[in-house]
Amino acid sequence: MQISEEESRALLAALLRGELPDAHGRFGPFGGRYAPEMLMPALGRIAAGVQRWLHEPAFQAELGAQLRDWVGRPTPLTPAPRLGEAWGAEVYLKREDIAHTGAHKINNALGQALLARRLGARRVVAETGAGQHGVATAAACARLGMPCVVYMGAVDVQRQAPNVERMHQFGARVVSVESGDRTLRAAIDEAFRDWVADPEGTYYLLGSVVGPHPYPWLVRELQAVIGREARAQFLAATGDLPDVAIACVGGGSNAIGLFHPFLGDAAVELLGVEAGGRGTGLGEHAATLSRGTPGVLHGTYSLLLQDADGQVQETHSVSAGLDYPGVGPEHALLKTIGRVRYTSATDDEALAALRECCALEGILPALESSHALAGARRWARDNPGRRILIGLSGRGDKDMPTLSRVFAGAPGSANPH
Ligand SMILES: *Cc1c(COP(=O)(O)O)cnc(C)c1O
Repeated sequence: MQISEEESRALLAALLRGELPDAHGRFGPFGGRYAPEMLMPALGRIAAGVQRWLHEPAFQAELGAQLRDWVGRPTPLTPAPRLGEAWGAEVYLKREDIAHTGAHKINNALGQALLARRLGARRVVAETGAGQHGVATAAACARLGMPCVVYMGAVDVQRQAPNVERMHQFGARVVSVESGDRTLRAAIDEAFRDWVADPEGTYYLLGSVVGPHPYPWLVRELQAVIGREARAQFLAATGDLPDVAIACVGGGSNAIGLFHPFLGDAAVELLGVEAGGRGTGLGEHAATLSRGTPGVLHGTYSLLLQDADGQVQETHSVSAGLDYPGVGPEHALLKTIGRVRYTSATDDEALAALRECCALEGILPALESSHALAGARRWARDNPGRRILIGLSGRGDKDMPTLSRVFAGAPGSANPH
């Protein structure tokens, strides 16, 4: 997608004025609402609800209190001096791993569950792949006393048994989807089917800045708390802004949340790191912004990984949370206008960064977040002696089964038995 320099400047200015997405959910050429006719009224009601409630003082007070007392916000900004010494940089970690349930996803799940209640919904449905969004949604619904159904592909139910158990403990019903590919894609279809059957009484709680309007907008507004806190904390800690802010990108919610409050700071470089997997061929990675082409997936026009015939491609990443062939439309815009740069880190680079962070800082990052660390490490090598802010989107406890498998027998690993 080609855009002139003048158009790019105008689109960035519109973003900074808070005018994007527009009334149709467009972020410049991207975004929009490509959904079944039956869902249009429900999507319209949610969009009106976002407009009406999200920034209304009583709603903000309720959300703010829950974020403080239950989620544990603000999360700390942690200096990482030993990583900094190893990289020749000044490194700070924004600690979403410390948020309740272990990642940034709770900011969104809680905010949308509160919105669902305001909209008069009687129950919440969600879909989940790796299970992290399902756990956050189940926890938020338990906290607010709302019935919750989570759709999950049968293959993922097997692979993510501990997360399924956590959802059960929070009182959610987990529906194992046996149709289609029996993973995330099939789960999304089933969750949509459920919602279509009762679009007024049911609220569909989406987990990232993807999907039809208003979700990319709603989720960005709820995750921007990450960047607002980090910006203020960075200023307080150093008296200045970072030279670069770096986050991993799956659907793109933690990255948009971190980046958004910095978009107007022209001196702050913004870098998104996607899953480079095990190679550059289709099916080997999930680097949608780096290698994708425009198209419609799950209700939005954005970049996606597809073949020449428009068939959506399988993806691969060692981290389940980055393993998605699409990406949020706002990221597609930010890439197109050149405000954010996107790169990728391979499985091996992410695993090495994870180990380094464990060994030097006593922090076990999620495999997803480890992609941001790997990207930061490379950035530091090319830009010595600078201040780096890294979005640590989640903790890696959930990844222990994967880690024991890939590190079994590797030098320095624990006894595999
Ligand atoms: C789900 C997840 C991601 C990827 O989702 P985004 O919407 O791109 O943020 C990243 N990190 C962690 C820890 C996750 O659980």
